[in-house]
Amino acid sequence: MVRLNEIRAGEVAVDPPAATDAGLVYIGRIRTPWTDRLACPRQGRADGPACRIELFEPWVAALDGLSAYPRIEVLYWLDAARRDLVRQSPANDGLTRGTFALRSPVRPNPIGTSIAHLVSIAGAVLTVRGLDCLDGTPLLDLKPDRTLFTPIAKPQPGDFETEA
Ligand code: SAM
Repeated sequence: MVRLNEIRAGEVAVDPPAATDAGLVYIGRIRTPWTDRLACPRQGRADGPACRIELFEPWVAALDGLSAYPRIEVLYWLDAARRDLVRQSPANDGLTRGTFALRSPVRPNPIGTSIAHLVSIAGAVLTVRGLDCLDGTPLLDLKPDRTLFTPIAKPQPGDFETEA
């Protein structure tokens, strides 16, 4: 999905409510080799280039413990994406799908997620592989890969409830 404001055959745009940021805070900036969407991969790859995640203060202290995880989830704000399409044509061939059936950056709240391979953490800078965003993309959050993470708190009543 590489576009600015075009509408392709069959696509449907809506008049969305005025955007607010819901109180999101950009906690850092992602540095990648890609300055143009045509060159940017659609999804990150484990053997992709090393990219830098520069964390802002006061969030650097929140990195404590993260280096134990070889893979981390990176959440970012696809800030250059339009936000008004409910049907999209990724191949620009007249065939469309609903936005929520796609991983396109074009969505009402343009949150991107990648599983990144952690190369190093040095102070406020993480080096990772596996990203697919433009240079300068705002960072929203970092988490251990859920498949590697064991909850630290004891199980709570209801954690293991099954449906009748
Ligand atoms: N891996 C994420 C996901 O699945 O949620 C994002 C996938 S999205 C298909 C990746 C594409 O978003 C890139 O190929 C590029 O065209 C576009 N993109 C990357 N950074 C962006 C940004 N800051 N603003 C808007 N579009 C961006």
